[in-house]
Order: sequence, then C-alpha cells, then structure tokens
Amino acid sequence: MAQGVLLIVCGPSGVGKSTLCGALLDDRPRLTLSVSYTTRDRRGDEVDGEAYHFVSERDFLEMRDAGAFAEWAEVHGNFYGTSREVIEDTFRQGKDLLFDIDYQGARQLRTVYPDSTAVLVAPPDMETLEERLRGRGTDSEEVIQRRLAAARHELSQYELFDYVVENGAFKHALSAFRAIYDAAQHGRSLRKGWMEELLNS
Ligand code: 5GP
Repeated sequence: MAQGVLLIVCGPSGVGKSTLCGALLDDRPRLTLSVSYTTRDRRGDEVDGEAYHFVSERDFLEMRDAGAFAEWAEVHGNFYGTSREVIEDTFRQGKDLLFDIDYQGARQLRTVYPDSTAVLVAPPDMETLEERLRGRGTDSEEVIQRRLAAARHELSQYELFDYVVENGAFKHALSAFRAIYDAAQHGRSLRKGWMEELLNS
C-alpha cells in the first residue's frame, strides 16, 4: 500500500497545538486528522468520532491486547491510542495523516514508521506558556503547576523530533508548519515508487 505523509505533532498543553493543527487541516485538504481512541470523558460539545472515539477502559485494553493500536500511551491518567486501521484506511484513500499525540506516542510511531515527520511545538518562553495556561481561568494552581512540569518534560524530549516550531506569533508558526508539511510530500521514501518508474521508462 502506498504510504502518504505522516505528520506527527506534539507540544505541551497550552502551546496552541490544536489551533495550529486546525489551521493546517483547513489549508491542506489532502491532510486528514488521525482520530484517536481515548478513555477520557467527553468534554463540552465534543462529538464521538470527530475529535476522538470515546471508549471504556475495558474496550480500550481489549483493543490494545488485540494489537489494534500502532501506538498507545497513558496521558494525564487516561489512555489514548492510534488505531492501525485508521492509518491504513487513510492511506488507501490516498491521503496524508496528521497525528496530534503526546511524545510517548510519537516515539512509538517513529519506530513503526521511520519515514514519518515529527514536529514539536514550543512556546517562545516558559512565562508565555504559564500565562496561556492561567488565561484559560479554569484550572487550579495545583493543576497549572503540574502542567508546567509536564510541559518541561515534554519539551526536554526535543531530540526525538525533526523540527521545533516556536509558537510565538501564530502567523509565523503556521507558515513554518505549512512549509514542513509541504516539504514532507517530497520525501525520498514517498517518491521511491515514482523514481523507480522514472528510471525504468
Ligand atoms: P486531550 O485529552 O487534552 O485532548 O489530550 C491530552 C494529550 O493526549 C495531548 O497531548 C494529546 O496530544 C495526547 N493524545 C491525543 N490522542 C493521542 C493518541 O492517540 N496517542 C497518544 N500517545 N497521545 C494522544
């Protein structure tokens, strides 16, 4: 099966990763969001099957044990996983995939798909990240401190990634993100079949 671009995006909570991903998905119709499975509760107006497939812990563990996930991880006390079937279906449709996952998942996907492209979204500085987390106004001091510590840990994994995008000015971050995706489509391994045809013609 021909493989499309696998664009993995990680970044701490509050860094603006979802907004960046949403903007790239709007701009690039070939790119599709990989909808993960999770055991966390549905928030507000989240629709099952759109942001996530919401499942019970029992069903998640059953899927995991049956080898249904290309990667899975426990994040903030909940399970999250990427289904192999979702990846294969998307490639069958000739589309590219965007994974909004945590660094543990990124590490596993990199092993399964070494030709994937991995991007870490970082804040311009830690004060800005703290302000953004406080700006939400919904979390307690304890939760904010926990998220900041988790953010430092996630950012310290930067060597796992091909690119680090600083999300200070959103417009600049988006153009860097777009350039990375556009370049990934010309990756040597994705062009292998085409190159072989060219050389045999
Ligand atoms: P949230 O529950 O706020 O939507 O996501 C919490 C964290 O879980 C985010 O860092 C998000 O990127 C990560 N996440 C979402 N889906 C997956 C997944 O399928 N696998 C892994 N490893 N992490 C995920």
